[in-house]
Amino acid sequence: MLSEFDLIKHYFRRNRPGKAVLGIGDDCALLAPTPGMQMAISSDMLVEGRHFFPGADPRMLGHKCLAVNLSDLAAMGARPLGFTLALALPEANPDWLAGFSAGLFALADAHDCELIGGDTTRGPLNICITVFGEVEPGQALRRDAARAGDDIWISGTLGDARLALAGYWKEYALGEDEHLLAAARMHMPTPRVGLGRALAALAQPPAALDISDGLVGDLGHILAASSVGATLEVDALPAGPVLSRQPLEWRRRFTVAGGDDYELCFAARREDREAVIAAGVASGTPVTRVGTIDAEAGLRFVDGSGAPVSMQVSGWDHFSGG
Ligand code: ADP
Ligand code: MG
Repeated sequence: MLSEFDLIKHYFRRNRPGKAVLGIGDDCALLAPTPGMQMAISSDMLVEGRHFFPGADPRMLGHKCLAVNLSDLAAMGARPLGFTLALALPEANPDWLAGFSAGLFALADAHDCELIGGDTTRGPLNICITVFGEVEPGQALRRDAARAGDDIWISGTLGDARLALAGYWKEYALGEDEHLLAAARMHMPTPRVGLGRALAALAQPPAALDISDGLVGDLGHILAASSVGATLEVDALPAGPVLSRQPLEWRRRFTVAGGDDYELCFAARREDREAVIAAGVASGTPVTRVGTIDAEAGLRFVDGSGAPVSMQVSGWDHFSGG
């Protein structure tokens, strides 16, 4: 049986501080953010049976638990500096630890974001990561920055992760290949860090967040923080490659209220249309304009001709049975 210290040394300590002054091994890590920058900090916890299925593939889990955290940095326009990992494990299983750390570090290295510390204990499987990033003062992508007349944009595509969940739950029948493709979106989200950084460079940084609980619920946070409303063109919402082959009703339902998308939703000034498209191209991220911010409170849906569409949807809430 591995001791706690052997486990950390063998699977998590790589003796490279990355951007930190001091990494794993002392009582604290030491970070030296670039002078003049503000720090962006966020934590996300993944609990077995709540956020992932018992027995989930450890490599994909390693990817996902860091991806959802990097997605928060992306949604703030911040550049990743490093992260900590607090891990409760029922047992020290070498195969699980090797897979988990491989998935974790593959994504960490892709973003030059090193593991700089953490905590390890025995308990029901629970993974909590805290990420540290930095952003230029005044340039963070805050939820309270939307103004009436802004365009609403979405990165990438929506709904495939929710479609995969519907497949697992047998709410919806998918072919085997379709299910695998959709499930990959659920297990291996892509944090849009490059796009977030490019948007934070605009003279008027957009209001933004990452969509984790479904577009409608999450966009609602921007609307509330900015005291505005919005109109969404439902059929302009970019559906994932699997969802886009399903009937209209499912496409609408899962793009509007999916979950686990980890795409950015942002509201940018109308005069910045060209700059937003350039930010998408520069970061290699597709961006789609899907609606407008209104002065009038509330969220309205229209079809391509501008006619109202009624949608019964709500966001994902861990405490209201969702
Ligand atoms: P302390 O008791 O002082 O909090 P620990 O014995 O918990 O220290 O941890 C020793 C070192 O290993 C610390 O630098 C801590 O940040 C690091 N560490 C512990 N668990 C992890 C982990 N899961 N991933 C990365 N670093 C870890
Ligand atoms: Mg400790």
